[in-house]
Amino acid sequence: MDPSELKRRIQGWAQELGFTEARVADIDLSDYERGFREWLSAGHGASMSFLERHGLLRFRPDELVPGTRRVLMVSRDYLPPESRSPQQVLGNPALAYVSRYSLGRDYHKLVRKRLAQLARRISDEVGPFTYRAFCDSAPVYETGLAERAGLGWKGKHSLVLNRSGGSWFFLGALFLDLDLPVDEPVADHCGTCTACIDVCPTGAIVADGVVDARRCISYLTIEADEDIPESLRPLMGNRVYGCDDCQLVCPWNRFARYTQDDDFQPRHDLDATELVTLFRWDEATFLARTEGSAIRRIGWRRWRRNLAVALGNIPPQADAAGEALAALTQELGEAGDQVDRHIRWAIDRLSGDRSRGSSG
Ligand code: SF4
Ligand code: SF4
Repeated sequence: MDPSELKRRIQGWAQELGFTEARVADIDLSDYERGFREWLSAGHGASMSFLERHGLLRFRPDELVPGTRRVLMVSRDYLPPESRSPQQVLGNPALAYVSRYSLGRDYHKLVRKRLAQLARRISDEVGPFTYRAFCDSAPVYETGLAERAGLGWKGKHSLVLNRSGGSWFFLGALFLDLDLPVDEPVADHCGTCTACIDVCPTGAIVADGVVDARRCISYLTIEADEDIPESLRPLMGNRVYGCDDCQLVCPWNRFARYTQDDDFQPRHDLDATELVTLFRWDEATFLARTEGSAIRRIGWRRWRRNLAVALGNIPPQADAAGEALAALTQELGEAGDQVDRHIRWAIDRLSGDRSRGSSG
């Protein structure tokens, strides 16, 4: 079959499988290698040692999967239409803010499964070929591949965004040994805007497109296994799993599309639940309520560590502070060393400030 016709059909099948866009990139990511090395050597990768371990493999798709000639990059919208307003939740310190992408079912498996279905559909047409499907699951530089494929540009917040859909979408990559025609990259439309840099609660965006993971709340609440630095805790507010501030403020997200996927609708009211309620979950409840969710991957300990910090950020004079203090005090000594350290910090904030407030 003519490669252009095959590509057109693949894009049609991708849409039938629920992908918003499907575009083709070549595999030359050499332009990104230097920036990555500099980012790593500046320490911006924090303790994500796997980044170093995988070296430059992420920029060499044909070394990761020998024979790869093209990468089909797909996007899948995830913004749930029926969740509580993020601004309302962020503005209420008694509630937990959970990043919009993780309110529903874990996207990793879902996207990979649909990509595998797409690959089978292609092989029905062209016969056996070599492919691998990825979604955040291997050393694959999805941002660069998405840029090469023209799915969008890398914004100053380092995420991919585009003019017709903003940035609330997942990316998936299907490595192929087929010679499909490649798509053209699109221009960067951030212009003089610096809204994401200005709004970042922790000052994590240290240059255009450069995020220092050591300061990024997404890293601190999800990837970091270590204690959360005390200097950053007060800046985290009620963000207990990820952070969306740099996306919420982005003007291009006025054009964001809502997801059609039932799988990405909020589960167990995680779009707006009280911090105390989540903190009181025992491990069995945590495991049951996060089954099939990306949140489960961080485990109960990190979950409670994050919640303790958020509880400590409730203003001491707020109605919710008393209950927060009681819940923290009850758990102290029962939660393991790390969570205990965060609980103690939170208790100091709530009780110290309360006694100072009451003494005048
Ligand atoms: S996710 Fe939050 S902390 Fe990280 S760069 Fe964006 S606004 Fe800053
Ligand atoms: S907020 Fe502005 S600078 Fe940041 S990604 Fe969006 S358009 Fe670009």
